Amino acid sequence: MNTTKKTPAHEKLSSRPPIIVVLGHVDHGKTTLLDAIRQTDVAAREYGGITQSIGAWQADGLTFIDTPGHEAFTKMRSRGAAVADIAILVVAANDSVMPQTVESIKIIKEAKIPYLVAINKIDLPEANFDKVTSDLLRHEVMLEGYGGDVPFAKVSAKNKTGIKELLDLIKLMADMADLKNDPQGDLEAIVIESELDHRRGPLATAVVRNGTLSVGQEIFIEDKKSKIRALIDYQGKPLDVAGPGTPAEILGLSVVPSVGAALADHPAGAKPQTDSGQARMTIKENSLNLILKADTAGSLEAIVAQMPVNVNLIQTSVGEISGADVLLAKSTKAIILGFNIKISSEAQKLAELEKVLVRTYKIIYELLDELTDAAAGQLAPQESEEILGTGQIVAEFPYEKLRVVGVRVSQGRLARGDNVKIKSQNSKIKSLRVGKDEVNKVEAGKECGVLLDPQIDFRIGDDIIAYNRS
Ligand code: GDP
Repeated sequence: MNTTKKTPAHEKLSSRPPIIVVLGHVDHGKTTLLDAIRQTDVAAREYGGITQSIGAWQADGLTFIDTPGHEAFTKMRSRGAAVADIAILVVAANDSVMPQTVESIKIIKEAKIPYLVAINKIDLPEANFDKVTSDLLRHEVMLEGYGGDVPFAKVSAKNKTGIKELLDLIKLMADMADLKNDPQGDLEAIVIESELDHRRGPLATAVVRNGTLSVGQEIFIEDKKSKIRALIDYQGKPLDVAGPGTPAEILGLSVVPSVGAALADHPAGAKPQTDSGQARMTIKENSLNLILKADTAGSLEAIVAQMPVNVNLIQTSVGEISGADVLLAKSTKAIILGFNIKISSEAQKLAELEKVLVRTYKIIYELLDELTDAAAGQLAPQESEEILGTGQIVAEFPYEKLRVVGVRVSQGRLARGDNVKIKSQNSKIKSLRVGKDEVNKVEAGKECGVLLDPQIDFRIGDDIIAYNRS
């Protein structure tokens, strides 16, 4: 047990870095803004640039949580807001308020945390500040000087303008916020990421809100005891202790905790904040039975939160698809879907033998779309698919009477002859070009022109997925 002495109440308070979360509509510039903030940090520059390995980091005396931008991560985003002290709502000045902006406003208001608005992309000629102001007003976000008291900064994350002003506003808000904390007090740390690492075992990244995590300490997660073997900071350096406001990766856990779980130094305080979608074994008739596997507990939760209602979860767990999963699927007449994980070759063979449908995905939308199809009875159960590569459609070129798809390959590769999908439409790659050259294969990181046969509809921003059907 942790025997750390508790300090009397009147000695308690010391200021800690505020924990900040960035929310907003996809493509409004959250990632670019976080990058711009990171680059303003002198210490980080002197260190030679941050190689960030965990989902939270510190710059300029502030702690930032990286939140995935995809709408399926709503749940994680709302956790982000709950763990955070201050939220930055990013609104692109050319796009103004969009559906995920509205959802973010709701999350922030429910979390009851102070927030400010970063009006981004002000460098664009289409930037329309007045429209943003009035659209925000419609959602009861009243900016300072415009009838309300919500601070805002006009920024261009891309050109790095307005970033200092934004950071100054955050610091001012942090000074005004009552960030009570006590390094010697009860541990309160919230898990923001977790995964099962094949070499290092269960891993979690937590942000400490109160108390201190230290190597050798016994902690409780969801009432399960663990002993901290090592702590790693956001730059990948080992830490002896992580005090209030500090994010750290924790090694030595006995379980993979769910995202949002609280770490405590005594069992009674370690209540999980939500149902994490842990293993369940009830089987209902007439619904689709599913075994879901993913790389992290956060991904599992995001998927579970968005699943069609008529899906019956047999089991969810972190890690690669194993033979045991296939056997469980066989006995429960379930399908297995995996997100961002592999299937072991033993499991693959077993699935073919037992005719269990196994599919893996790198894109959450794709998994959810297909799950919806499967729940509607549209998946052929004997098929098994492997994702060979994914890319984003970044351009479109006319070619004779056809449309050539301009793709940036993001993972794996695209190759001539591949089966591909855009949204739920299927086609095949007829030819590939890089510049003027016809090629057979294009690897991740490169851009190419793709001619599909048959032609299918697409839009810039859509994902393209190459897959192998066996
Ligand atoms: P996120 O989905 O909210 O994380 O958005 P990203 O940070 O990925 O940005 C989406 C797109 O907007 C990218 O192409 C960025 O380069 C672009 N972008 C981000 N900030 C700015 C900005 O201040 N000005 C302009 N012109 N483009 C920006």
